[in-house]
Amino acid sequence: MSAETLEFQAETKRLLDLVVNSIYTNKEIFLRELISNSSDAIDKLHFESLTNHDILEGNEDYEIFVVPDSDTKTITISDNGIGMTRDEVISNIGTIAKSGTKAFLEKLRENDGKVDEEFIGQFGVGFYSAFIVADEVELITRRAGENSAVKWTSKGAGEYTIEDCEKDSRGTTIVLHLKPEFCGGEEFDFTNNYAIENLIKKYSDYIRYPVKMNFITEDKDKNKTVEVRTVNSMQPLWTKNKSEISQDEYKEFFKHQFREWEEPQEIFHIKAEGTTEYTALLCIPKHAAINLYYADYEPGLQLYSRHVFIMEKCKDFLPDYLRFIKGLVDSPDLPLNISRELLQQSREVKKIGKALEKNILKQLSKMLQNDRAKYETFWNEFGKSLKIGVYGNMFDTKVKDDLKDLLLFTTSKEEKLSTLAEYVERMPESQTKIYCAVGKDAATISQIPQMEILRDRGIEVIYLLDPIDEFVTDALQNYSGKEIQSINREDFELDDDESKKVKSEVEELAKSNEDLLKDVREAIGAEVSEVRLTSRLKSGAVCLATGAQGPSLNMEKTFAAMNNPMMKATRILELNPNHELFKKLSGLHALDKESGDFKDFCKLLYTQALLIEGIMPDNPVEVANKIAALMAK
Ligand code: ADP
Repeated sequence: MSAETLEFQAETKRLLDLVVNSIYTNKEIFLRELISNSSDAIDKLHFESLTNHDILEGNEDYEIFVVPDSDTKTITISDNGIGMTRDEVISNIGTIAKSGTKAFLEKLRENDGKVDEEFIGQFGVGFYSAFIVADEVELITRRAGENSAVKWTSKGAGEYTIEDCEKDSRGTTIVLHLKPEFCGGEEFDFTNNYAIENLIKKYSDYIRYPVKMNFITEDKDKNKTVEVRTVNSMQPLWTKNKSEISQDEYKEFFKHQFREWEEPQEIFHIKAEGTTEYTALLCIPKHAAINLYYADYEPGLQLYSRHVFIMEKCKDFLPDYLRFIKGLVDSPDLPLNISRELLQQSREVKKIGKALEKNILKQLSKMLQNDRAKYETFWNEFGKSLKIGVYGNMFDTKVKDDLKDLLLFTTSKEEKLSTLAEYVERMPESQTKIYCAVGKDAATISQIPQMEILRDRGIEVIYLLDPIDEFVTDALQNYSGKEIQSINREDFELDDDESKKVKSEVEELAKSNEDLLKDVREAIGAEVSEVRLTSRLKSGAVCLATGAQGPSLNMEKTFAAMNNPMMKATRILELNPNHELFKKLSGLHALDKESGDFKDFCKLLYTQALLIEGIMPDNPVEVANKIAALMAK
């Protein structure tokens, strides 16, 4: 195929423009990015060779070569990895790969249009970082196992050319034609061997394949000899002793190994010996991935056996609720050519996974006890995962037990985060249940009519602010022998003497108003399952309760948003017999229970209860007209 000139995808163009024109805090990162890409390409080749040995073409000596050249003002990075076909070059290099333009542009806006090292790392625009230092980039590549090679060239401005070419060895060679300020300058000289050697040591020491350079020595007769040396130590960090590793080394490693753009917030280095031997290096990233809870997020730990890379994302170690954990496991007890299917059934993997899960939960619990601020930072970022763990394992008492003490909830006490244990600790002896209330924020909850009597009695309430919270408390049911009671459910009642007294009075009243309540229910229709008098309201006239079991109103909303409108809450309308409106209602009923006035009154009472719950009535215009008519009277 002859040379073709193609346009970059629109977003890529925009990105390249930013890369070329922005002022970087760190110009050196291009080298780390390109070496990482090379290392990934070798990983891919190695992985493919496990099932197709021929692809190696008889050459198993993986290597990455970096050659700075002051004569041609270039730096060349080559690898003998998987390489790319013509189509792959077009789709991998011409378009922004993983994270999608939308997220990219959104973040860009958040970042006030600033592009820096962190930003680049986050969006996997690694290859384009070449244009920070180069005004022209050539990429020559041949996919392992293919005959034809391609050459891609671009000046980073809008378009690139692609043409067929010759290449003997498999893999990819990238030639950067350096901008003048990066050749021979005081500050940056990327054509200088020693400068590059230092950069490789600094950023790419852990790369598990040799990164080689030519070193030219002259003897006294000016005879030059070229010596090829491996610059990186290649010693995997996790094989070193913990005491020999600095925090900075750990942090650099995670950034590098997992393409993280920020330092992790917590690091776990776990070594186990005995029947199952393994080392795990895990971390909690600083921020949750944008797609952490979406189907396209791929959880999993890197898997190594005797320091040899086996697999990028092994999902079988950690439970789904720890999907945010990144890291690797290296175990000599796993065979090198293990398939995904066998891995799933492997007893070793299960055993290692259980131990890791236990270890992570223990560390989290320690963090909660010893460094509350740190734990709350973690919680704000990943708490949702633990909540999903509780809800997703509602029938698994063990998991619930493991997680229940790691949960934090905002409570009415100073609207701060609290554990369930702390809440229980503060409960007065007379209080037998843990009370919780659902709402979108603290201000909304504090206005729920049912909250009034709790406030009066000085009872602390847990606020369920996240839509998943109520699913969590429902799954738990109780904590430390105390039932968790939603104040939005019909079976909510206080058990102090005062409340009991009011309750029995209301029960008496309910008996004498049986007909009235039945007629109110009929006037409203089948939407409510029952109308009753309540002792739980003080100044409020009405409230809506849901059945003691089954979905709540909040759950109904969540299910509806998930396109599952069948999950309906039972609605119970509760009336305050001590309110003026109740007296008025009784009056209208006594006058003529068939009258339009009585029926409208009932419907408006129900509408009020709906509005308190943030639910729009089905027929807002009709409701507005009824209110208008009533006000005009
Ligand atoms: P990322 O590496 O984060 O996916 P890049 O822009 O650095 O983003 O690279 C885009 C894609 O181009 C890579 O995912 C890979 O498929 C391909 N690629 C880049 N460099 C190489 C290489 N040296 N060998 C083979 N493929 C490569």
